[in-house]
Amino acid sequence: MRISGKHIGQIGTKLLPQKNEVTLDGEGLLMMPGLVNSHTHIGDSIAKDIGIDSGVEEKIHPVSGFKQKILKNSDKHHLASFVKNSCISMIRKGITSFIDFREGGSEGINLLKNATLGIPIRPVILGRIEYYQDLRSIKNNTPIPQFHKSSLQNFLLNCDGLGISGPNEFSDSALQYFAKTRKIRAIHSAETEESNKISKKISGKTETQRALLAKPNFLVHMTYASKKDLVLAIKNRASIVVCPRANGSLAEGIPDVDVMLDAGCNIAIGTDNVMINSPDMFREMDYLWKVSMAMKKKRLVQKIYSRWLPQMLQNFWVEKLELFKMVTWQIAYSLKNMQLI
Ligand SMILES: [Zn+2]
Repeated sequence: MRISGKHIGQIGTKLLPQKNEVTLDGEGLLMMPGLVNSHTHIGDSIAKDIGIDSGVEEKIHPVSGFKQKILKNSDKHHLASFVKNSCISMIRKGITSFIDFREGGSEGINLLKNATLGIPIRPVILGRIEYYQDLRSIKNNTPIPQFHKSSLQNFLLNCDGLGISGPNEFSDSALQYFAKTRKIRAIHSAETEESNKISKKISGKTETQRALLAKPNFLVHMTYASKKDLVLAIKNRASIVVCPRANGSLAEGIPDVDVMLDAGCNIAIGTDNVMINSPDMFREMDYLWKVSMAMKKKRLVQKIYSRWLPQMLQNFWVEKLELFKMVTWQIAYSLKNMQLI
């Protein structure tokens, strides 16, 4: 393989080094684009495996979850050193970019920026305001108070966009305000059966219908999205980031990627909270592929992609290729940022 500049120039079995060309023996190594972890909460690295026997709300609810208590009560230097270790661990597993939902407003953004200084990894930081609305405010369609609007505009100058906890914590007015921000927008949606039920109860709409009010570039989870929700996501040009191992570890179901692919969704993969799941994209690909086939009792991806891939491609390659797109260029393409890979 010959590298020209930053790109692969030639591949062949008879390539010979040119005069003064630097050569490296790559036997036993993998050469590939950098992996992109499309959804993390790396800030909770300090709380790995805490509450292994608790439910999703008890653990990671943005207001009442004990993750928030741990983050609030931990020494900032300790938080930063755990974040740093997670970044080093990601690089060792081929991850060169990660997209993080960063809690804690400006302070949280700065903590992540400082922790990644000098580490050759690209963090895409999606910040949030520490302001959440209750059910009554959602029913009354309460707008975001001016103070929080200003703080949001302020921290957006210092990060890559907005990572919204979910539609069940915000009124339509608030979600529509988020839609007006100019950087990347992403939001959790349909992670649990329960959260979807709550959305229908308070608004008569699915979580995804309301999440799309924020005009997100991508929706995270969609484990309980209906086919109608998937079509809506496509119409609104929102990609989907699935987190199968994180969903599995919370005992909250597995996203049906087969149905998503059939609907024509643009899919990427993330590892979600470090406290519940290790940031490892190779494990994520392996798990998603095998669990999906186990659930459907059939070989999945080859069925879907054989219709446009050349016949001569072996099934092995067909299956792996589709998964590989989900951890490399799919998200870069949807964010129009090819620098990510
Ligand atoms: Zn998340």
